[in-house]
Amino acid sequence: MFIDIANLKKSYRTGEVVTEVLKGIGMKLDKGEIGVILGPSGSGKSTLMNILGGIDRGDSGQVLVDGIEINQLNDGKLTDYRRGDIGFVFQFYNLVPNLTVGENIEVVSNISKSPLNTDEVLAAVGMQDKKHRFPRELSGGEQQRVSIARAIVKNPKLLLCDEPTGALDYDTSRSILQLLQQVNKKYGTTILMITHNAAIAAMANRVFRLRSGEIVEETVNQTVVPAERIEW
Ligand code: ADP
Ligand code: MG
Repeated sequence: MFIDIANLKKSYRTGEVVTEVLKGIGMKLDKGEIGVILGPSGSGKSTLMNILGGIDRGDSGQVLVDGIEINQLNDGKLTDYRRGDIGFVFQFYNLVPNLTVGENIEVVSNISKSPLNTDEVLAAVGMQDKKHRFPRELSGGEQQRVSIARAIVKNPKLLLCDEPTGALDYDTSRSILQLLQQVNKKYGTTILMITHNAAIAAMANRVFRLRSGEIVEETVNQTVVPAERIEW
């Protein structure tokens, strides 16, 4: 099992008020699979993903990723894990505005140890001719392609995508989801993606429905639907 989470709990404290955001999450994902986390706003999706990505920490429970118990790592080792093993894609791309497309990718740490390079990943996302452009000169969909290239250039073990199509129109969303499936196939990257669009779940191997900090349903899709065939 590549991801194996058991009884994961997380609360946030604001002044006197303690809010339990994750109430004992359990989930598993195999290497090379695509998983989708579905759930309404505020259900804890980003919190769960940030813990898996080493940005945040759980309070208790087990978070095993590729045999590493990341909840037990010290701060330095957790930073190494985040920089070395994890790729992130966000809703609003988070590209550095004053760097070109190529430079946005080249600032990624650990790139020298990767079997991939900037030109290869730009070609993989169809952006090879935009290497010297700045983010403001690109459409939203093109910026998301660059952010996917940036996330995969270090050949991460796990690609975490937090509402990657949340800011995109229908056709562009479909092409980005198609691209994620291509990355999964081409590089064998395990992908975990957050969405609140139930139709998108058809492109995943496993679907986890989150509600108020609990997984209320897990579905295994016997057939994975190509993103270009999904309609919503
Ligand atoms: P989702 O991504 O499903 O919309 P989040 O994981 O972002 O949900 O948030 C779940 C709940 O945790 C929300 O009620 C949110 O307000 C709260 N929360 C998230 N991050 C923090 C934080 N750093 N401090 C306090 N509360 C937080
Ligand atoms: Mg969120």
